[in-house]
Amino acid sequence: MRLSEALRTVVGMTSGPLPSFDPSAGTALSAFDGTGPTAGRLAERLLPVSAEALDRRSADRADPNFLGAVVRHPGTLAVLYSQNRAAHVGTHLAFLPAHLLPASWLGGLVVYLGQLPQQRTTAQADPGADVVLVVLPEPVEPVSAVMSEPAAEGASLLPENTNWAGFRESGPGLDLVEAGILLEAAAIANWHRAHPRCPRCGAATEVVQSGWVRLCPEDGSEHFPRTDPAIIVTVVGADDRLLLATGARMRSTMFSTLAGFVEPGESLEQAVAREILEEVGVRVTECQYLGSQPWPFPASLMLGFTAHTEDTIAQPDGAEVLRARWFSREELVTAVGSGEITLPSRLSISRALIEQWFGDHIAEPVLAATE
Ligand SMILES: [Zn+2]
Repeated sequence: MRLSEALRTVVGMTSGPLPSFDPSAGTALSAFDGTGPTAGRLAERLLPVSAEALDRRSADRADPNFLGAVVRHPGTLAVLYSQNRAAHVGTHLAFLPAHLLPASWLGGLVVYLGQLPQQRTTAQADPGADVVLVVLPEPVEPVSAVMSEPAAEGASLLPENTNWAGFRESGPGLDLVEAGILLEAAAIANWHRAHPRCPRCGAATEVVQSGWVRLCPEDGSEHFPRTDPAIIVTVVGADDRLLLATGARMRSTMFSTLAGFVEPGESLEQAVAREILEEVGVRVTECQYLGSQPWPFPASLMLGFTAHTEDTIAQPDGAEVLRARWFSREELVTAVGSGEITLPSRLSISRALIEQWFGDHIAEPVLAATE
């Protein structure tokens, strides 16, 4: 197969001219998403979370009576979460009527997630409905799945095809609003689980403000949910080749963007420069912010950048990064198309950043083989 044919196949094009692949010109990018001429907007559009987030009603949720009233309202929907998994019906999130849930469930951790937009944004839940998170100590199986053991309380509320899954498993089947709800649920549930005690005096803290603050009964200190900022970067050389790397915990065929946590007292730009130098010995001369994605596994916020370097040699540190390799667009298409390398999941900002540099979607070889 000629390169141009491979390129058409892998990017899913069957006719017409190939993209110009000049990100600065904007033409390939416009052809890509249909509207936005800027790289930043493009990256945001690629991320699998809706820009139309829930209205978190932060002023209302501080009222100590707010959450109880919301839960009692017949229109309020509950999302169930337990041990890093949420209840799903088929491939979608399960939205249950909150006011029908057993008292034992509502006596545990309940968090107000937000109100859905008034216009319909997801087929799975009513517009304008309030959504609460109910965290259970362990997943509850639907009645039909319970063979010999007595059904758990509330099991009859769950449809027969209820299943429990985390974002990595169910993400591809969710719509953008559901994906945002699941990420918010995971983030706040993870924070509560990891922060049961006051960091000042060690006393067990109480959940207040509809689940968004923990209060120490001993010294009155308030503790707010935390998010760990991490930078994730496409490093592009002077010849416009992209530097990708295999991390120590990745499959050996996986090539991904470089990433790392921001350290205390460090700017994002400093973190980009430091992490790239530490991991692959490359000095970046400038970087540009492209977009962000919550990745609460357990608590990260991924901040996407593209960085420029004049360096042409990358030296993996051998600890966090095992291999590093420069790719032209043609080389990347060929390597992905042949199955020599794999790219990160389409759920990830890493994939979005790589495709932002590439200028188009990059199809997997399974799809290419069907053409
Ligand atoms: Zn305390």
